[in-house]
Amino acid sequence: MNQTISRAEILCVGTELLMGDIVNTNAAYLSRRLATLGIGVYRQSVVGDNRARLAEDLRVALSRADLVITSGGLGPTADDMTKEVAAEVFGRKMHLHEPSLARIERYFAATGREMTPNNRKQAMMPEGATVFQNDYGTAPALALTNEEGKVLVMLPGPPRELEPLFCEQVEPFLQPRCAAVLFSRNVHICGMGESAVESVLPRELLDGANPTVAPYCVAGEVRLRVTAKAADKESAMALCDKAVARIRKTPVSPYIYAIDTPSPEAALIGLLRERGMTVATAESCTGGLIAKRLTDVAGSSAAVVGGAVTYQTHTKTQLLGVPADLIEEKGVVSADVAAQMARGAREKFDADLAIATTGYAGPGGGTDKEPVGTVYIAVASKTRCTVRRFSASPLRDRAYIRTVAATNAILDALHLLSDVQ
Ligand code: ATP
Repeated sequence: MNQTISRAEILCVGTELLMGDIVNTNAAYLSRRLATLGIGVYRQSVVGDNRARLAEDLRVALSRADLVITSGGLGPTADDMTKEVAAEVFGRKMHLHEPSLARIERYFAATGREMTPNNRKQAMMPEGATVFQNDYGTAPALALTNEEGKVLVMLPGPPRELEPLFCEQVEPFLQPRCAAVLFSRNVHICGMGESAVESVLPRELLDGANPTVAPYCVAGEVRLRVTAKAADKESAMALCDKAVARIRKTPVSPYIYAIDTPSPEAALIGLLRERGMTVATAESCTGGLIAKRLTDVAGSSAAVVGGAVTYQTHTKTQLLGVPADLIEEKGVVSADVAAQMARGAREKFDADLAIATTGYAGPGGGTDKEPVGTVYIAVASKTRCTVRRFSASPLRDRAYIRTVAATNAILDALHLLSDVQ
């Protein structure tokens, strides 16, 4: 019997989670994914590698929810017992699942590792289980459905296995059992604060029930999460797109730098590649963070020429050609020096665009005029150079100030690029 799934519980198995040795990222990941399926997560819990407690928690969770998802305890060792306990709870016998055994044998042969007898345990399945083959490790995932139509999905613990298994196999398995789907689009905004964004958006957009429009801040940028609920993905998507089109008609429009981008750096690299343009960096207080983030993006070699970390004053002169008397006159943390760093880097690296930063990341340093948290950000193209004095709260720590300064510098480059044809 297939019943509609609307409420779920997540039960993560592992004593190392209870001990605080690892952080429960699987629960957060699964909650986010289930939300997109329109399934509400009512509880997240953690249980150690203990047979009796696991059995009790599984029984209780299945009595309350339509769907229970476990992570962990599918490995070959004696303390991995999730499947065996689930078989007991469902009153099923364990049997050898030949296709899984064949895959595990092939996996060991391909990796040149020796298969130990306990690896066979990973091919033992409760009767009646739906098996999801694991292309990312040796432990297959599985699902059991009881007479009431309640579903238990068991996933391996390592996130690099759990996440693709969930997306590729568990979601399609759950989809037909879901009453509705949720779909979200993220509108990425730069150069406008959260409250300013909220104040210019029409009330009926912000107060709407379907889709919902929720502003939130992420390290230096504002996002609007537009979420719609509908019977299928296409209808939900259409509702979201209609709301995004409305947002584009508001004063927020010029500040939207991307829709659904994983990060500002991905958006910048994408745009540079689209235009066949290149970028260089000249960094002082961000110490290479901008270059690191740009080169984190796959395919960035087509756009990133190089960068210089000019941390001490004389290196700004030696490597970027910033005149020493300008530094002397204006101060090393100043708009003029940032602009010269960007111009110098653009020329030295022969790039279309250059991004520069100079500022005080703290906790020491800073002046009355330029306190900790002040960062001058410059972006130079062949024809223009924009400079901005960015102020992060001096109460925030060094890592935060450097991160938001790097984010803002990348966003400024995106901004300038939108005007550069
Ligand atoms: P394996 O075959 O690797 O033993 P398993 O299904 O038995 O997989 P566990 O042994 O419970 O999984 O966990 C393996 C590893 O996966 C842990 O050491 C940890 O690094 C990671 N892991 C487990 N549970 C979680 C979790 N809830 N969140 C994040 N990481 C986790």
